[in-house]
This record gives sequence, C-alpha cells and structure tokens, in this order.
Amino acid sequence: MNIIVFAENQDGVFKKSSFEAVSYASQIAAQHGSQVTAVSIGNVAAEKLADLGTYGADVVLQYNSDIFSQFTGEAYSKALAHASKHKGADLIIISNTYSGKMIAPRVAAKLNAGMVSGVISMPDTSNGFKVKRSVFSGKSFADVSINTSVKVISITPNSFSIVENQKAASVETMDAGLTTTDINTQTVEVARATGKIPLTEAELVVSGGRGMKGPENWHLIETLADTLGAATACSKPVSDIHWRPHSEHVGQTGITIKPNLYIAIGISGAIQHLAGVSSSKVIVAINKDPEAPFFKAADYGIVGDAFEVLPKIIEAAKALKSA
Ligand SMILES: Cc1cc2nc3c(=O)[nH]c(=O)nc-3n(C[C@H](O)[C@H](O)[C@H](O)COP(=O)(O)OP(=O)(O)OC[C@H]3O[C@@H](n4cnc5c(N)ncnc54)[C@H](O)[C@@H]3O)c2cc1C
Repeated sequence: MNIIVFAENQDGVFKKSSFEAVSYASQIAAQHGSQVTAVSIGNVAAEKLADLGTYGADVVLQYNSDIFSQFTGEAYSKALAHASKHKGADLIIISNTYSGKMIAPRVAAKLNAGMVSGVISMPDTSNGFKVKRSVFSGKSFADVSINTSVKVISITPNSFSIVENQKAASVETMDAGLTTTDINTQTVEVARATGKIPLTEAELVVSGGRGMKGPENWHLIETLADTLGAATACSKPVSDIHWRPHSEHVGQTGITIKPNLYIAIGISGAIQHLAGVSSSKVIVAINKDPEAPFFKAADYGIVGDAFEVLPKIIEAAKALKSA
C-alpha cells in the first residue's frame, strides 16, 4: 500500500494535526510493510521538513513556489494530486482541518478516488478497506467501506495520538507545473484569530455561554484559561451577539474540538453545542440549573452560580500552579 499524507503548515510551522496524520499513516504503513510519503506545500525550512521523519515519514515531497504562498483549495489539491500520481499512491490521508476539508474532496475527484471524511478509526483492511466516522453530529457512528483502488480519507483532528517512529526522511523538491492561469480563486485577505492558543490545537479549553451574562464578565473565563494555559471558546449565541469573536464559536455550526479538558460555564448543553465538544476527553460543566442538559454529557458537574464558583476555581488553580 502506497501512502501519501498531507502535512499542513501555518507560516512554515507544521500543525499538530499534521504530526497526528503522519503518525496515523506510519502505523498503517507498519501493518502493510509500506512507505509513507509526506507532502508539504508552501515555504517550510529544510530542517522542519526532515522533522516529519520523527513521526514515520520515509520521504517528504516539498512543493514550494509563489503559487502556494497563500492557501487555495485549488492549488493545494492540484499539488497533492500531482504527488499522489507521482508516487502511485493507493491511500491519501489528510487531516480534516478547515484546509483539509477544502482539499480532500478535490483530490478525490482528481484521482477518481472514493473518499470518507471525519474518520475516527484506523482502517480495517481484513476484508477490503473499512473506516469508522462519526455521523449525526457525533450521535452515531458509521462504518464505511471504500471500494475504489485509490482511497482518500480525512481524519478528525485530536482523534489520534502523535507517535514517534524515527525515520531518516529524505526530502525531494517537486514542481506541480502550476501557473496563475491554473488557479481561478485568490485569497485576498487573511484575518487571523488572535487567541494565544489556537482553539483547534488546544489541549485545555475554557468555554462560556449566555449564563456569563455579558462580555464584561469574560475576564473570569480569560483568567481561568490563562491560569490553566487553556484556549477560550464560547457557545453560538455568545458569538452571534458579539460578546466573543466567531472564531471561538464551537458546535455543529462552529468549530469541532476534542481537547483533553473542556470546561463549560453557563452553557446549557444543547445538542448543537455538544456536537462540537462531546468528544472531549474530560468535560466539566458549571451551571446553576441542576437540570441543565450539559450535566448528562459531563464527567464532572458543579451546580452553582458561575460568579461564585469561578473565583474559587481560579484561586484554587493559581494556588495549585504556584505550589
Ligand atoms: C441549526 C442550529 C445550529 C446551532 N449550532 C450551534 C453551535 O454550533 N454551537 C452552539 O453553542 N449552539 C448552536 N445552536 C444553538 C443551540 O441550540 C443553543 O441555543 C445554544 O447552544 C445555547 O447557548 P447557551 O447555552 O450559551 O445559552 P442558553 O441556552 O441561554 O443557556 C445558558 C445557560 O446558562 C445557565 N446559567 C445562567 N446563569 C448562570 C449563572 N449565573 N451561573 C451558571 N450558569 C448559569 C443557564 O442555566 C443555562 O443552562 C444551534 C442551533 C441551531 C438551530
């Protein structure tokens, strides 16, 4: 089995989800005695490219030209399809990030490949090729078989561990032969979320809902997040009424996250919210209503007024940290 994995970077630094994807690919390769080729697109320093060998990449193909300086689904998917054809890949693995969501279906179409998105299991290859994905906003699972000879899967970020499997990855410079006439769209402006820790990469997340009453109270969420080294998130209504930026909105229509710890404060726990956070490893809900639905999804619950509970938790977290 010839495996290609897309290693996404931001400003020349590989994302955590890229190391997860390379580790995932490396484990499949180990089962099948095959090689992993990682594909890097855009400007990444040579030593960083070689870092992909730490997680099991045997070869790194680098596409770096002006056309890749800004992300476009068109250019990146063309490069990835080029790499896949170059290597005669049977399996293309992409992380299901925002960029991955734009690339994966395009690559599948270019390669006439069957595709499954949001994969949360290693493939079962005992009889064909079957993977598990979550469906109905995380309420259920579907086992999906891909029957085409070339297969594309996008794996859910934070679903697989980063595993070291040191290889001396060789780096090859590639040229997909793309010019500006091949690309119909252009990124005009990039507005970056300014949070200290990117939500999608965060291991710990402190999140607030309408129960926080107003943006003037968010210093409590931010102080707890700062103390714990966590990212901040919020429910949809909170971003809709501009208490917080949309980049913090988690849920069915927002970002899906899977941190080790999700602390939900003054959030009811509507199904649409849970769709984006229910895969968190540990969930703590703080709500003054003992009947709040979040308590059914939470591992730990505190029934109480956020404005009384939060200062105590912050104090305890600070004391723990200084000890
Ligand atoms: C198609 C669709 C998509 C949606 N997508 C999303 C989505 O992606 N993400 C999302 O979040 N929502 C989404 N929603 C909205 C969702 O249904 C809920 O309306 C929303 O999640 C509720 O937000 P909330 O819990 O912050 O507010 P509320 O429902 O108003 O709940 C506030 C909670 O705070 C508690 N509370 C109040 N005061 C305090 C206090 N002092 N201390 C402690 N607790 C307190 C209350 O008991 C209550 O449980 C979607 C809805 C639809 C229809």
